[in-house]
Amino acid sequence: MGNQARNKAKPRVKAPKQPKRSSTSEQTQVQTPQPAPIPVNLAEFTPAELMQLQRTIGNRSVSKMLGQTVQREDDDLLSAAQVVRAMSYYELRSDQYTETIISQLQAALGLPETGTVDEALVQAAARWQAAHPPLAVDGMIGPRTLPAIIPGGLAEQAEIEAFAGDAKGVIEGDWATQSKEERVDAILAKVNERLTAANVPEVGKVIQDLGGSAGRFSFSLWSIRFDEGIFSKETLTDAEKADLADTVYHEARHAEQWYRMAQMLAGEGKTAAEIASEMSIPARIATEAVGAPLATGSMDALIADGWYQSVYGTGREHRRRTLGEEGTFEEYQNLPEESDAWRVGGAVTEAYNREEEEGGGG
Ligand SMILES: [Zn+2]
Repeated sequence: MGNQARNKAKPRVKAPKQPKRSSTSEQTQVQTPQPAPIPVNLAEFTPAELMQLQRTIGNRSVSKMLGQTVQREDDDLLSAAQVVRAMSYYELRSDQYTETIISQLQAALGLPETGTVDEALVQAAARWQAAHPPLAVDGMIGPRTLPAIIPGGLAEQAEIEAFAGDAKGVIEGDWATQSKEERVDAILAKVNERLTAANVPEVGKVIQDLGGSAGRFSFSLWSIRFDEGIFSKETLTDAEKADLADTVYHEARHAEQWYRMAQMLAGEGKTAAEIASEMSIPARIATEAVGAPLATGSMDALIADGWYQSVYGTGREHRRRTLGEEGTFEEYQNLPEESDAWRVGGAVTEAYNREEEEGGGG
């Protein structure tokens, strides 16, 4: 498929050892807080890193940042050097992290909406990340943190609760007397209700042996593949029930991600044929996306771009390796689109088990 890196007007960053955008900037590690207050310390940067900062954000900005004494609060998680790195993350991408976007992030974090990247923003982002594991605590609201801070569509808590209740109705309902086909149709109808509510085209179904994983989204077929084995079982354990609901929703979230990417490309003026070919999605899905484009520069487009870069853009090679033989499970879960789907699916498991305790059915 013809999906070479898209030429978005984005500064090309030849990153030094750290921070690297797609693989290391948001990995799952929690950094320990450092004592406060401290001045920004030159010694915390490698010479290569300083040169990189000077080249990319300019000598004056670097001098300004290095010259300031950082007033640290007790709950600040980032060291002075981490603050500078985090701030430069946004400065390097100022064509994407516009004043409008920064204001929206500040609003989401409960900060005054100045539209300007400052220390308060990156420290607040780090605190938010620390409260939402397994996000890396680095103050950089990148492709993993962004859709978590600004949840839309299937990621909205009300949608998650609605699906968990509906899935329970299916799984605890006539399941034992149904055929595997009927079970798949019943859960598919529920997940398609949520997709429709999120203005995402409904997905179809394929029933096949997936070797134990309950489902898998195929964007080329615009269908969820359902595991024949699990849907053939007359009785499921509690863990299997929640896991089934989780997996189906996880796969539906992938459908939403792929549709948002298509809508983003539509917003950039691509035709349905171009989108279908570049993304290997059905023509009818690309056509729908062209009828509902995401505005360039909008938060939704920025979120979609994080997934797009991972799958079709700058992260493509990394993703291919990660999904291949050499990739680890942790690397796979840390791909932006997977980090997002695992978080959203996990929220369904939580909601499902909450309902279990409460004995509710909707
Ligand atoms: Zn997935």
